[in-house]
Amino acid sequence: MSQSFQGVIRGVYGYFGGTFDPIHNGHLRMAIELQETLGFDQFALVPCHQPPHRQAHSDDRVRAQMVSLALEQCPGLQLDPRELERDSLSYSIDTLQQLRDELGDAASISWCVGMDSLVNIGSWHRWRELLDYAHLVVVARPGWQLPQSGEVADWLQQHRADTDVLHRRPCGAVVIQPLSLLQISATDIRQRVASGNSVQFLLPEPVRQFIEQNGLYRRAPGESENPCLPK
Ligand code: ATP
Repeated sequence: MSQSFQGVIRGVYGYFGGTFDPIHNGHLRMAIELQETLGFDQFALVPCHQPPHRQAHSDDRVRAQMVSLALEQCPGLQLDPRELERDSLSYSIDTLQQLRDELGDAASISWCVGMDSLVNIGSWHRWRELLDYAHLVVVARPGWQLPQSGEVADWLQQHRADTDVLHRRPCGAVVIQPLSLLQISATDIRQRVASGNSVQFLLPEPVRQFIEQNGLYRRAPGESENPCLPK
């Protein structure tokens, strides 16, 4: 569709998928900077229902609630709960197909991921078809490099384009966007909480309070719910 598109782009939409377990200031800065730099008309965070490659630590409802709390302070960003409403594994390709059906052929749709997600893209369900429905925006995160060889590297090279493509074509390009990202990860936050350490200033204060009030992440990853059961 992308190569043959001759019309005028109607709406430039950005989506940022993740586990958000929990959402933190690294995610929020990335979303804000992408929206400002790339000029999206709308930008939404899309928490996944159940990640295909790993199990979430908090359930869907809790993660969505934390995203909602975080976005109360970010009026330009939205929560898109569509993957939580699907009672199946979260595959980006399904989400993008659904978005394309809803937004129509003239919408520019971008799926935004960090470089750490990109290096695994070769294992995503129907990954080569992603660009039939959307652009892929890859944020260069500290410490990560673009794949240098192999089929993903070739695919990137073939489809790589400058950022203005997002305002000219509905889908089909890979855009690499360097941003000065915060060195924060959800894994680190969960570990700090489990160790009884502070997570202040790593995530929005209402989210920090929510974690504290609901006793989330107090157990170290892998530790049994019931202390009598073997780990
Ligand atoms: P975990 O530590 O549990 O793997 P995470 O902090 O990496 O979690 P995810 O929900 O897995 O968060 O990531 C969702 C998306 O956010 C991914 O594309 C990831 O690259 C990106 N991301 C994660 N941390 C940051 C950060 N500090 N700055 C910018 N982007 C980030």
